[in-house]
Amino acid sequence: MSISSWILILLLPQPSQRRNTWRIASLLWKTWDGSGKTRYYVMASQKKETLAMSVENMVNAMTMELTFGCGDTPNIKCGIIGEIGCSWPLHDFERRAVQASGETQEFAGCPVMFHPGRYHGAPEEIFHIYTEAGGDPKKMVMGHLDRTFHTLDGLVEYASLGTYCEYDLFGIETSHYQLNTSVDMPSDAQRIERIKHLVDNGFEDKILIAHDIHTLHRLTMARWL
Ligand SMILES: [Zn+2]
Repeated sequence: MSISSWILILLLPQPSQRRNTWRIASLLWKTWDGSGKTRYYVMASQKKETLAMSVENMVNAMTMELTFGCGDTPNIKCGIIGEIGCSWPLHDFERRAVQASGETQEFAGCPVMFHPGRYHGAPEEIFHIYTEAGGDPKKMVMGHLDRTFHTLDGLVEYASLGTYCEYDLFGIETSHYQLNTSVDMPSDAQRIERIKHLVDNGFEDKILIAHDIHTLHRLTMARWL
């Protein structure tokens, strides 16, 4: 858990608030760390030894976590591969992770979710690497489309590939995308307009909606206490 998260918890006025928030935060942190989902996130977040992993090593590790259980929590098996983190341009380590997820998916039959690089061409590149490695497009989820496609034509062109299209940044309403300020972030209303466009074009069964809640300040404490 980050130092800022600790400080936020310690600032809560009531001991019961601190205790309950700590429990929730610990659970979220464990989940973020990989329990329940097996994954390789973006190159910039990896240790040196992880960056050196071969496709075969990644396939073996993900297969273990999907079929036998996770190393630190062997009583929990993963139910999904993801997020597989990709940058733009795609790093060689990330390319291997995408290939490994395709190979593992073909064997295990599980869903796979991708975090695409911050460029409209990134999702299709990932799609081709994944499917050429054996991955099933019908089991593939492309996340973070809110900040990736900014034209309706580009969105429909990608959806035509047959994967799930995920709008998962609901609730983040800022003028610019914080991680790429050249991108105008859509509002929730604009997200709904884009989703409706997918529905109008026949992709109603291929839409996923989520909140990518990865920071403590976006939790509403009162609901949990
Ligand atoms: Zn992500």
